[in-house]
Amino acid sequence: MELEGKVALVTGASRGIGRAIALRLASEGVRVAINYNRSHEAAEEVAAQAATLGAEAFTVKGDVGTREGGETAVKAAVDRWGRLDILVNNAGITRDMLLMRLSEEDWDLVLDTNLKSAYVCSKVASRQMLRGGWGRIINISSVVGVIGNAGQANYAAAKAGLLGLTKSLAKEFGAKGITANAVAPGYIETDITSGLSEEIRQTVLAQIPAKRYGQPEDVAEVVAFLASPRASYVNGQTINVDGGMVTF
Ligand code: NDP
Repeated sequence: MELEGKVALVTGASRGIGRAIALRLASEGVRVAINYNRSHEAAEEVAAQAATLGAEAFTVKGDVGTREGGETAVKAAVDRWGRLDILVNNAGITRDMLLMRLSEEDWDLVLDTNLKSAYVCSKVASRQMLRGGWGRIINISSVVGVIGNAGQANYAAAKAGLLGLTKSLAKEFGAKGITANAVAPGYIETDITSGLSEEIRQTVLAQIPAKRYGQPEDVAEVVAFLASPRASYVNGQTINVDGGMVTF
C-alpha cells in the first residue's frame, strides 16, 4: 500500500481501460476522482466499486477535450482532497476514416479529446504536484501512435503527440519529483474495439505473439507500477502493453 492516501484523477474512467485503472489504484488505497463525459451511471458504478475496495472515490463529469472540462475535472479532485498526486490522461475516442475522406471536424474532435485533454489536465495538475513535490503523469497512448495505422491518421497523430508531450514533461519536471510516462496499449477488449469485424479481429490476433487480446487490467497493472514509488527512476518512457505485437 505504498500509494495509500494519494489522490488521483483518471480521465475517461467510466468504462474500459480507465475504469480498470481507477479500480486498480483504488485497490492500493488511492483516493480516486473518476472523470467521465456521458456515462453517468457507469461512472457511479465505478465509484461504488472503488468504495467496496476501501477507497474514497467520486465522479466528476466533464469533457476533458475542452479547457473548461479539463480544468473542472482537476479542480474537483483538488477541492475535495486538497491535493493531486497522480494524473492518468486516459480519455480517448476514435473517428476512423481514410485521409481522403477524413473531415476536419473528426480531425479536431480526436485531437482535442485525445491530445489537447492531456495538455489541459497536465497543466493544471502539475501546479498541485509541484506544491507537493511529488507527482505522476501517465498518458495512455497507443501502439498506433508508435507505428501508425491506415484509416487512423487523426488517432495516430494524437497518440504520437502524447508521446512527445510525455517526453517534454519528463524533462520539464524531472528535477521536481514528478515523472511523466506513457503506456501504449495494443488491442485491448473494450467498447472501442468491440465494433471491429471478426475478420479484423483475427488479422490482429495473428500479429500478437501472446495469442490473446489484452484486457483492461493488463494496462492498469503497468499504470499502477508507474504511479508507484518503485518507478521513481522511470521517466519520459513509453511502455507498450500489447502482448509483444510491437517490439521497438
Ligand atoms: P472506451 O471507449 O471503452 O472508454 C473510453 C472512456 O473515455 C469512457 O470512459 C468515456 O467516457 C471517456 N471519454 C471519451 N471522451 C471523453 C471526453 N471528451 N471527456 C471525458 N471522458 C471521455 O475506450 P478504452 O477504454 O478502450 O480506451 C481508453 C484509452 O485507451 C483511450 O485513450 C484509447 O485511445 C486508449 N487505447 C485503447 C486501446 C484498445 O484497444 N481498447 C488500444 C490503445 C489505446 P463516457 O462514456 O462518459 O463518454
